[in-house]
Amino acid sequence: MIESRLNATPTARAKRAQGTVDDKEIAPLILLSSQIKKPLPKTRFTRFLVRLNQPQTSGFEEWVFREGMTFGAPDTWWAEKGPRARPHEGLDICFFSDMEGRVLRLLPGTKIPVMYDGTLVALLDDFLGKTLIVEHGIRDEDGRVLCSMYAHLTPDETMQPGRVLQQGDIIAGLAPAPSKAAILPHLHLSLGWASRAIEYDALDWRTLGEEEKLALVDPLPALGCVPGGSAQVELSPDGLPPQGS
Ligand SMILES: [Zn+2]
Repeated sequence: MIESRLNATPTARAKRAQGTVDDKEIAPLILLSSQIKKPLPKTRFTRFLVRLNQPQTSGFEEWVFREGMTFGAPDTWWAEKGPRARPHEGLDICFFSDMEGRVLRLLPGTKIPVMYDGTLVALLDDFLGKTLIVEHGIRDEDGRVLCSMYAHLTPDETMQPGRVLQQGDIIAGLAPAPSKAAILPHLHLSLGWASRAIEYDALDWRTLGEEEKLALVDPLPALGCVPGGSAQVELSPDGLPPQGS
């Protein structure tokens, strides 16, 4: 039913091609309060991403988060929006608004920059692509080291553990979502403080948030987004996957 609505007019098709989502179904957005103990260094991640992905991101105004996309969210934001197996380990980055007030989404292949200088320490498989873990030379008072994790990506073969990165370097493109999957391509971004004893090779998505190995924190403040803020944004079935297929 959604497909037929999508294909109803050339305009709808054009909008879908651009990744536009502008229907009248309003979802309130929630930005969670920061729960971090140590302030995170600011990153120019958004500025790099916008610059790297012109013209797709021309007119970028701000990231848009639906309920379920933010750190600690109990539910998913796609399909039937059921409960997650555990609170969300990071931030899902998919939608942004432009200067004309439209809500757009990132398309497969979107170039993803690294948040800070660092070293690629691990690659994991995830359900849409690969997860890259980057360790940064930033420590907290307990000697734990800051790591960033980027999931649902398609890195090329040059991205191997040991690769030294400068902030803004492209680490991969956004992986496509299977056409039948009830999910959109998106970047899952996690930040955490890793213990000195961490073994990156032994990490997987089940053990990722175990406090003694890797204490996860909300990435929003590092991106310069205002914790606790909120916005009303209109999203549409245009930008959402077919339900129940
Ligand atoms: Zn996620």
